Parts: sequence; C-alpha cells; structure tokens
Amino acid sequence: MLRIMRKLAVNALKSPSLCSEPFKRVYFQKTKMRVLSVTQHNCSLRNYSSPPGDVKSLRSVINPHLSRIRNIGIMAHIDAGKTTTTERMLYYSGYIRTLGDVDDGDTVTDFMVQERERGITIQSAAVTFDWKDYRINLIDTPGHVDFTVEVERCLRVLDGAVAVFDASAGVEAQTLTVWRQADKHQIPRICFLNKMDKNRASFTYAVESIKQKLKTKPLLLQLPIGEAKTFRGLVDVVTKEQIVWKPTSDLDDGKNFEQKLLLEADDPNLFQEVQDARNTLIEQVADLDDQFAELVLGEYSENFDLIPADKLWSAIRRVTLAQKAVPVLCGSALKNKGVQPLLDAITMYLPAPNERSYEFLQWYKDDLCALAFKVLHDKCRGPLVFVRVYSGSLKPQSAVYNINKSCTERISRLLLPFADQQIEIPSLMPGNIALTVGLKQSATGDTIVSSKASAVAAARRAGRDAGREKWSTSDVESLLLAGVEIPDPVFFCTIEPPSMARQQDLDNALSCLQREDPSLKVKLDPDTGQTILCGMGELHIEIIHDRIRREYGIETYLGPLQVAYRETILNAAQATDTLDKTVGDKRHLVTAELEVRPRLGERATTKPIIEYAASVTEALPKELQGAVENGITNSCIQGPLLGFPVQDIDVTVQSLMVHPDTSHTMVSACLSRCMQKALKKGGIQILEPLMKLEITVSEDHLSAALADLAQRRGSIQEIQSRQDNRVVVAAVPLAEMMGYSTVLRSLTSGSATFTLELASYQALNSQEQSALLQRRMGLV
Ligand code: GDP
Repeated sequence: MLRIMRKLAVNALKSPSLCSEPFKRVYFQKTKMRVLSVTQHNCSLRNYSSPPGDVKSLRSVINPHLSRIRNIGIMAHIDAGKTTTTERMLYYSGYIRTLGDVDDGDTVTDFMVQERERGITIQSAAVTFDWKDYRINLIDTPGHVDFTVEVERCLRVLDGAVAVFDASAGVEAQTLTVWRQADKHQIPRICFLNKMDKNRASFTYAVESIKQKLKTKPLLLQLPIGEAKTFRGLVDVVTKEQIVWKPTSDLDDGKNFEQKLLLEADDPNLFQEVQDARNTLIEQVADLDDQFAELVLGEYSENFDLIPADKLWSAIRRVTLAQKAVPVLCGSALKNKGVQPLLDAITMYLPAPNERSYEFLQWYKDDLCALAFKVLHDKCRGPLVFVRVYSGSLKPQSAVYNINKSCTERISRLLLPFADQQIEIPSLMPGNIALTVGLKQSATGDTIVSSKASAVAAARRAGRDAGREKWSTSDVESLLLAGVEIPDPVFFCTIEPPSMARQQDLDNALSCLQREDPSLKVKLDPDTGQTILCGMGELHIEIIHDRIRREYGIETYLGPLQVAYRETILNAAQATDTLDKTVGDKRHLVTAELEVRPRLGERATTKPIIEYAASVTEALPKELQGAVENGITNSCIQGPLLGFPVQDIDVTVQSLMVHPDTSHTMVSACLSRCMQKALKKGGIQILEPLMKLEITVSEDHLSAALADLAQRRGSIQEIQSRQDNRVVVAAVPLAEMMGYSTVLRSLTSGSATFTLELASYQALNSQEQSALLQRRMGLV
C-alpha cells in the first residue's frame, strides 16, 4: 500500500493533471507544512531514521552544519551494483520503506523510463538523505562508457566518492576510467567490494586487483565472514567487532544483525586473521601519517592492541582525505549485508565540504558563489537546474547573475532533490546541493553569483591580488569554476520529424536535450539542410531518440548510424588566394598566403596551431587577428574531402594584404578559402576512430569471440585471466562495431560483457579510403 502511495506521489509531482484532486491536496499541504517547520526551527541535528513525511525529521532537512554534510558520488563499472547499493542506503536511512529491485525496474534513483527498462543508470540522479547525524547528498553516476561526461560533471561537485566493485570481477574497465577522472579532480574515495555473496566472489582477488590496477594502497577495514554462498557478515578490523546478519523472519531486509566483539573462542582462525589485519593496518597508516606514527612508536610501541579505536579512525580519515590510501569495505547490497557500515564509513572517512580547498572562494568573501552542474527539463516547471553552493546563500524569489552568460535571472523556487520527488526549501547554504526552478538561461558548468556588482567586486579582488590596478577579462575568467571537457562525438546520424510542420517542435526538443546533455551535438547538414544528431555511442543516440518520442511526443526517423571520421594532411603545402568584392560603394580586397603542415607529436586536436611570418606580425592590426584566426579555424571544422573535422595541422600565415575598407567577415572568408586550397594540395588522409575494446567472456565462448574479432579488423593486445573468465583487450575500428552488443550476446549466450572506449584515430589505407569515398558518394 505504502509503495503504491509513494508511486502516486511521484506521479502527482510529475504530472499534476493526472492525479486525483484529494491526493494532490494532501501532498501539497504536506509540502507547505514542511516549509513552515523548516523556517521556524534552527537546525538541530540528531539521529533519526524516519521517512521524509515525518515533520519532526524535517528540522534537520535544511542546511545542517558544514561539518555534517557529505557530498558523495557512487562510481563503478556497469552492473557492479551502484543502483542496488544506493537503494539500500535510502532504505536504511528511512527515506523509503520498501526495497526496490533493479531487476524489477522500480528503484528510486533510476527514474527515467529508459533506465528502468534497460536496468542501467543514465542520468545521474541526486538524492538527499540523512544518516545518523549527517546529511548525505548522493549522486548516482552512470557506469556506461557512452555517458562519461555525466560522470565528469558529477565529480566536479563532489567532495568524496564510493567506488563499488563486483567482488568476483575486481577492477573492471569502466572503474579504471572513472578512477582516473576522480584522480584528476583529487577526490578522496572509499572502496566497497559488493556481491560478496556471488559464486566466485573473492575478497583477496578483488583487493589484489585494486592494488595492481588502480595503483593505490588499500586499507582493509573489514574482513568478510564466509565467501560466496557462505557469506554472512564481516569483522570490523579497527574494533575487532563481528557483525553477522541473521534472518529472523521472511523479511530479511538486513536491519537485524548481531554486533559483538570477536573472541578467540568464537573462531580461532578468523581471530588470528583479524589480529594480523589490524597490525598490518596500523603499520600501513603509521607509514603514511606522521602524527599516528609518533603515537604508535611512543606510547603503544609494545602493544598495538592498546591503540584506541578513535585514534586509528582519525588517522585513517587523515590519510584518506590526503588521498594517500583508500579504505576498503565489503558486503552484498542485494542480500542486504554491509550497507549500514558503508554509510558509517562515508560519514567517518570522507570529507565535509569545508575540508576541501577551492582557490576561487577567496575572491568572493561571503558573497554567493554557486555552480550549475546539471539541467533537467520538466514540462510543467521548465528547466530545473541542479546547483551546488560554495559560498554565500541562495534564496527563492531572488535574482542571481550568471557570469558565463552575462545575464541576470530569477530563481523562483528551491527544491531538495529526493530522486524524482522534491521538497521545497527556503534557503540553501554553502556545501549543499539543490534544484532551482526559474533559471532559463543557465546551463551545465555556469557560475552563478548574487549580482553583476558582486562579480565585478570579486574580479577586482582577483585583479588586485595579481598586482593589477584594474581588473581584466582574465580576472573574470579566474572567477569561473572549471568547465567540463566534452569529448568529440564518434557517431552521427540524420534525424527527421514525421512532417515539416513538426520541425519546430523537434528543434525545440533537441535544444532542451542539449542543455541537459552537453555531449549531444546537433548540427545542420549544409548541403541537404537535414538535422544531424552526433553522440558518444549507439546507446547514447538510441536513448535520445527514445526520449524525443516519450517526453516530447515526436515520432522521429533516424538515418543510418555513421562513424565520425577525421581528416588530416599528408604533406606540407602552400596556397594563395585573393578575394575582391565591391559591396555598395566599398571595395573589400584581401590577399593571403598560407602554409599548412602535418603536426608531429601531439595527436587528435582539431584546433590548428597558427603562426605568423615576421613581416605579417609587424603589419597586422590586433583587431584583424581575430578575423584571420576565425577563418583558419572554421575551415578546419569541415575538411575538404568529406567534411569531417581536420586534425593535427600547423598553419603559418606567410603574407597578408588587406584593403582599408575590407570588413572582418571578408577577411575570414578569404582565409577560409585559402586554407581549403592549401589543405587539398597537402593530400587529404582520412582517419578513423580506433576503439579500445574489453570483453569479459567465459573460457567456453572465448574462441567464438576471438574469431568474430578477427573479422572486424580487430587486433588483440592481451588476454588476461580474471577468476574463471577471460578478459580480451583489443583495438578495433569503430566502423566495425555497429550492433556488436547483439552479435556478442548471441555468440556467447548472453554471458559476455564488453566496454568500448575511444583510444585514438588511425589512418585508413588507400583501398579503405577509396571504398569509403565511393560509399559516401553513393556509388556503392
Ligand atoms: P549498476 O549497473 O552498477 O547500477 O548495478 P545494479 O544495481 O543495477 O545491479 C546489477 C545487477 O547486479 C542486478 O541484477 C542486481 O540484482 C545485481 N546485484 C547487485 N548487487 C548485488 C549483490 O550484492 N550480489 C549479487 N549476487 N547481485 C547483485
């Protein structure tokens, strides 16, 4: 019954017109009550585990003390159990009353229909809940490689992360990618070895693979009791307490467990193992933390057993925050074991927002500084923008200034995100994450401050610190929080509305989707006028297609999926071009001479490096330089052979003559034309995306998978053993990978999994290139 009520509440929020009047009223009354309660009470934190409907619990819902906030991400390889683990966290924290199951498609965080159908997490959903005295803002990030931009976007607003592993598989391909991204953002982490109940689960194997592949120092804070079918609990290495889950009734939801000190008499072998693990842990931590080393070598050098747990906890926290080591915990989310200790570890070892240093904050003093990190489109309320506040406070019904877009906007409401349910709040303080309603222009990566004057004041402070009297554009740039690097799409296809009358609706849907997802690119084919959709993978494009149908009600047609090739040149070449046009009474006259050269060394950059001959530098007015570089750069967006981006070239402007009346547009046009000529002379080479493919397959199906790879121009780089499975690492051209998931599934009876990631671009040989040209010209 409760589950049905919850679903009704969700639907009521999503489409108020569909819900029954009485129910809607009840919901909105509740929201009002909540807002009243939070405005009347100061924050008082206490331990509670009641659902959000309880008004008392809402005292702590708004803006807890900074030290009590944890902004956490969950990252992992697809299928490692992120969604199941998140669901269990929400359950134990009292936010939901029944356990969802990804296999039934009713979890809270996977709320997009496509996610529920496919059992994967695509859009990261932010969820706020409280555990004991702490506020946890948790972002569930996608594990599929097509959505790495989503992961990157989330990592920027997180202070810490939990890496979830399948204990039978250890470190898998996508975990490595996300781990590297977390390294880049210097995010402290803890590891959770999930699926300890699974056949072939191995704690030792998983720990070893963390050590080898992630090149990090694991701190074993728990040891499992039993493995695979016999897994029933764990021992806390710091306190030497054993926690054993004991099903007491049909409802084995993991809330009942026995926690007591492990005695030698209970299990002598396990006791000895724990004793050894504790000593190793103490030595490891002492090696990494001087403060703890002093303690160990001083007072407790004779007997490590006497070291108090709280001293060890604090030292583990310090080394985790300094990213010198990573605490490792274990459990089975599906079997409801180990998630509560994981929640405790999040609060104990991961940093509060004020324990992370953000350089830009010094310019803002106590003024508002917030980052928009995700946009969702809601049919009734317009764009909903997720923001994290770094300093100052955000209030509903207030104007804010977007530095990136140079515009003032109004926030009408502030909402705390409980997956697809939201609760209205009266203010948002530093360190916290919330959803805003009303921001129409702000997009992912934008910096939001209270007013233009506040941005100018901050820029002034930045300028003064840099020793400048006046602030400059570079000072404003230093105020912007770092943007997300968006990789270039590798696939594209045409998209057509059902009739010309719906083109406008389609354009609108695509621009909304682009604001939500910056890795989706949309452009117009200049020759055919068709709309082109460019994405990160087959699944990415498929999901966009599906969303346009479901969310915007437009039945679109996709053209065949095509690979986004690149172009480059084989040789250095020179070209000269003159543009002479009279428009009205003005004569526009430009003559340019350029040299292009293939760039050696650095690869795969589509921005040309532009140099000027000394004679040009002397005569070129500053204001013309922009027009010259625009012309050159624009001609690299569409190469001369097939219209793909041109990469890895250097350009020298050897001479330039511009008549005084000539407009900047004409200068750009002349340089573009001259570039096209030079590129053609240089001999165009087509490059294709080469993918790193990793297949995990059982021994029985290995030869079938390898035989298939050979037919796809794949080159096998390595075959590793992972428990009973084999992991094939290969390089395969993307053009050969269309529909691979279906083929692999049928070859291996659905037992194999794979990941595909862009590795580099490689040159097509001359036969392949001419075959491609013929195909593109419609001759084959
Ligand atoms: P995600 O892709 O990382 O979000 O993973 P999910 O939470 O969707 O889980 C993937 C699959 O693994 C589902 O079939 C889950 O039921 C299963 N699963 C998750 N946790 C466990 C676990 O602890 N033990 C076992 N045996 N299966 C699990």
